[in-house]
Amino acid sequence: MCTISKYLFAAALFVALSASAQNTSYWQQHVDYTMAVDMNVENFQYTGTQKLVYTNNSPDELHRVYYHLYFNAFQPGSEMNARLESIADPDGRMFSKETGSRITPLTESEIGYLHALSLKQDGAVVTFNEEGTVLVVDLAKPIPAGGTTTFEMEFKGQVPVQIRRAGRNNNDGVALSMSQWYPKLAEYDFEGWHADPYIAREFHGVWGDFEVKLTIDKNYTVGGTGYLQNPEEIGHGYEASGTKLKKQKGKTLTWHFKAPMVHDFMWAADPEYVHDVLQMKDGPTLHFLYKNDSIYRDTWTKVQPLTEKAMHFFNKNIGEYPYEQYSVIQGGDGGMEYAMGTLITGGDKPGSVIGTMIHELAHSWFQQVLATNEAKHEWMDEGFTSFISALCNNEIRAQNKENPFENSYRGYYYLVSSGQEQPQATHSDRYNSNMPYSIAAYSKGAIFLSQLGYIIGQDKLMETIKKYYADFKFKHPVPNDIKRTAEKVSGMELDWYLMDWTQTTNTIDYGIKAVNVDGEKTKISLKRTGLMPMPIDILIVYNDGTQETFYAPLRMMRGEKENPYPQIERTILDDWPWAFPTYDFSINKPRESIKAIVIDPSQLMADVNPDNNVWPIPAKAEE
Ligand SMILES: [Zn+2]
Repeated sequence: MCTISKYLFAAALFVALSASAQNTSYWQQHVDYTMAVDMNVENFQYTGTQKLVYTNNSPDELHRVYYHLYFNAFQPGSEMNARLESIADPDGRMFSKETGSRITPLTESEIGYLHALSLKQDGAVVTFNEEGTVLVVDLAKPIPAGGTTTFEMEFKGQVPVQIRRAGRNNNDGVALSMSQWYPKLAEYDFEGWHADPYIAREFHGVWGDFEVKLTIDKNYTVGGTGYLQNPEEIGHGYEASGTKLKKQKGKTLTWHFKAPMVHDFMWAADPEYVHDVLQMKDGPTLHFLYKNDSIYRDTWTKVQPLTEKAMHFFNKNIGEYPYEQYSVIQGGDGGMEYAMGTLITGGDKPGSVIGTMIHELAHSWFQQVLATNEAKHEWMDEGFTSFISALCNNEIRAQNKENPFENSYRGYYYLVSSGQEQPQATHSDRYNSNMPYSIAAYSKGAIFLSQLGYIIGQDKLMETIKKYYADFKFKHPVPNDIKRTAEKVSGMELDWYLMDWTQTTNTIDYGIKAVNVDGEKTKISLKRTGLMPMPIDILIVYNDGTQETFYAPLRMMRGEKENPYPQIERTILDDWPWAFPTYDFSINKPRESIKAIVIDPSQLMADVNPDNNVWPIPAKAEE
């Protein structure tokens, strides 16, 4: 090889290597927030300063940044309000049939707002422009790849009358539910900026460390994200027992919190909060803050031991909860997950509060630690949370349902039959109405996992969930990450599953076409009517009470699951290549010996037409 061509070769190799590194190497931005906030509990206005050290770990030079100003959504004229007034099925918590949107009538003193008053980048004044719930900032100087810059902002806000999640004086009488309350830098990731306007739901934030000093009326008890740094000055149940308090003087207290490696910071405050603490053995400290009212006290006493049990269940089945604290706080409406805590409504029905608590706690894994962009992949946080909460409810509340996901399947079948289904890959704000969003995210999202268990086997599914958590915690996993994890664990190819289930509205419909005498044998013909591919489990029950199973793997899976019914003998048949609409196999028993044939006795395969999954066809379905 001559010298010049050797160099050319080396140069070409270098280009090839760096291109592949760019395509595969993961990076994420980092934020360090230091905030001081002064809350006026009389007029619900607050002022604050924010120092934000932003590290650009991307390979790109950045010329702009964006902040979310979520509270601006709670005003007449906002995109949130326009959507509320135009969507076919507005959320009943934000809209009444009689009086319309709850945002429209808000007065100046009742609306929410969040405004930047000044902004500097490394000491230089920068210009900014407020566009609804997003602040657009043209930088004084670009942030180079790998560079760090410091923003200093003064801001002011007003807490809206409680409309959704955040707000003041909610139906339970909680004074302050403070989520999405501070100027929050938008995330920039491998897909670019995610400066989504706040229209209805779902968040995506930058990983980092928070230090927050909150000054508020000294009678208010505060709970939320972060470890309290000055419990001996604060009290309110945070001090170690027997501690002599060194209370700050004056009418206010300044609460000092630190929260490492989170992507949001929530707090709530009320002068009548009861604050209970439960220190788990080998686990985090659990805090419970709820209104001092007998209705709530009974419920919340029942919630506490179940929070501990649920924490154990998720630790065991997903992976260790990584923080030393979790707070269940009465606030907001319904329930919403935040870093190191949740805001949920109090309620007088313990069962419903416990169910909500379990769901929101599960989000600590599927959203707060596995921080998927839930606006784009809502099924990965709501669906996976619904899946694992169903398992948790079944175990710790002894529900013992044979199929703990039956409600999810019912919901999904309803959605398909409604004709209103949109692909799960739809942005959470861009569904035609709330119904197809909810079912796609929660029900169809839960089925993504339960059905994955049908495809790769239940043990491999649980192994996949643990590996997914171990590999992607404190990151922003995307749909391909759960699919690749399942592929690595199972040795199967699953691209077809991810694509058809999440990016299309293709449905599954397999059936038993014919059962024919074939000498001493029986020939069974199956058919595929739906577009979506699936491997097929078949159970045969004989008149003498014996059973056997057959398994037709899908050829494009390139693998086979373990026998899901080890107590029943299984025959692995030839692969069924998807494009063939029919598939025949023979059994060595006469037709008259067969009592019943059933496709997928587990019912974990979401077959939209189950009537033809059973032979002989049950009398009811024949009509
Ligand atoms: Zn949820």
